[in-house]
Amino acid sequence: MRKTLVAGNWKLNGSKDSIKTLVTDLLAGMSEVTDTQVAVCPPYIYIPMVAEMLEGSAVAVGSQDNADQESGAFTGEVAAPMLKEMGCTYAIVGHSERRSIYGETDADTANKYAAARKAGLTPILCVGELLEERENGITEDVVARQLDAVIDLEGVEALADGVIAYEPVWAIGTGKTASPEQAQAVHAFIRGKISALNEDVAAKVQILYGGSMNAGNAAELLAMEDIDGGLIGGASLAADTFLPICKA
Ligand code: PEP
Repeated sequence: MRKTLVAGNWKLNGSKDSIKTLVTDLLAGMSEVTDTQVAVCPPYIYIPMVAEMLEGSAVAVGSQDNADQESGAFTGEVAAPMLKEMGCTYAIVGHSERRSIYGETDADTANKYAAARKAGLTPILCVGELLEERENGITEDVVARQLDAVIDLEGVEALADGVIAYEPVWAIGTGKTASPEQAQAVHAFIRGKISALNEDVAAKVQILYGGSMNAGNAAELLAMEDIDGGLIGGASLAADTFLPICKA
């Protein structure tokens, strides 16, 4: 039985004070969250502070990205072993904003997945199609290509050490959510594709939905057979919008 994971992606938001308030509020509400794994992914600079505040709690910390290299002359990068050392459990890789704004390719994402995994982090691999790709009927081709980059580099077994987040790009930060049926169809496709290579990995891997998930739509999305949790952007920035999703 797969556990439900709800992870908050804070993106480039917050300040020392606002993040302290958010974490304090989250901790206060966590006693009402049962049977759900919860994680938050702050901007890099706040990770040590958040990890310290969350130490010993049920809330894990993740990064929003990590370098594909371990160390060396890579100005501006943060390596996966550093994130692990500073208290991260998870690392988001291949978020659509990294792909579309910073030009990261499927190969870059696969290398970051490999680096996170090697450091003992649990990579959260984001996949998902653009609106145009959905309208052209190539959603499954796009998602398969994004998954294959990791499978080809690391082998299908590597997916057992990670989490997959299906995030239709047209639903991220737009207020447009995939219907539970639309999301379930892609989640089932992803699990089926993995199952064709390794049934055990497919049965084990958590597949999250991301894209304007909120307190109002979380329960029906999370009720779908292959949706094992959520990757939450906007609604993770306040405890009163994030905790209801964790409780759902
Ligand atoms: C995301 O950025 O991963 C995301 C799902 O954002 P939002 O919930 O704001 O759509």
